[in-house]
Amino acid sequence: MEKHRQTLNLKLLQNAAAALRKNNFAAEVYESGPAAAAALLALAGRGKKIGVGGSMTVAALGLPEALAAAGNEIITHKPGMSPEEKRAVWLAALASDIYLASPQAVTLDGKLIFIDGNGNRGAAVIYGPRKTVLIAGVNKIAKDEEEGLWRSRNVAAIANNIRLEKDNPCVAAGRCVDCAGKSRICNAVTLLWKKPSASDILVMLVNEDLGY
Ligand code: SF4
Repeated sequence: MEKHRQTLNLKLLQNAAAALRKNNFAAEVYESGPAAAAALLALAGRGKKIGVGGSMTVAALGLPEALAAAGNEIITHKPGMSPEEKRAVWLAALASDIYLASPQAVTLDGKLIFIDGNGNRGAAVIYGPRKTVLIAGVNKIAKDEEEGLWRSRNVAAIANNIRLEKDNPCVAAGRCVDCAGKSRICNAVTLLWKKPSASDILVMLVNEDLGY
C-alpha cells in the first residue's frame, strides 16, 4: 500500500512541477529528502553566503550544518538575538547568494504560499537573493489557492504555534480562529502566482513528508 501511495505522490509532485514550470519557476522532483539535500549541496558548492528562512523542512534535512561544513556562510537568526541583531540578519539574507526556505503550500496549479509573522521570508522570496531554493515535501501539496491557504493556516500555522509554545487559540481549537492577539504568528501572506520577474527560483519537490 505504501508503495502505491508513493507512486501516486510522485505523480502529484510531477504534476505540480509541470505547473510550476508553466509559471516560470524551475522545478525538480526528488524521490527522497537525502536526494534533494545532495542536489542542493552540489548546487551550492562552497564559499557562498546562504540565507536561511525559518523552516522545519530545511532543518529536518540538516542543510544549515551540511552547507556550513562544505564551506558556506549561513545567515540566519538565532534565539536570543536582539531586534536590531535580527534586523541585520534579515537584511543580510536579502543579499545572499542563495536563499533557502520552504513554502507552507504548493498548489497543483503551480502557485506558492507563505504565511509569516514578520515577513522577512516573504520579502526574500519576492526579491533580493541571487537565487532562491524552496524545498517542499509532498505534504505541502494543495489542490489550489483556497486549499493552500487553508492548510497554511490550519495545519502549518497550528503546528508552528505548538512548536513555538504559543498559546494562541488555534492550539486549543485545532483550527485557525483568525485570532487578534499580539502573539499571532500569521500576519503576512505571500502568494507567488508566477515567478517574480527579477528573481531566480528553484522549487525542489520531495516525495516524502517534510516539515509542516
Ligand atoms: S488562530 Fe491566529 S495564530 Fe493561530 S493559525 Fe489562526 S491566525 Fe494564526
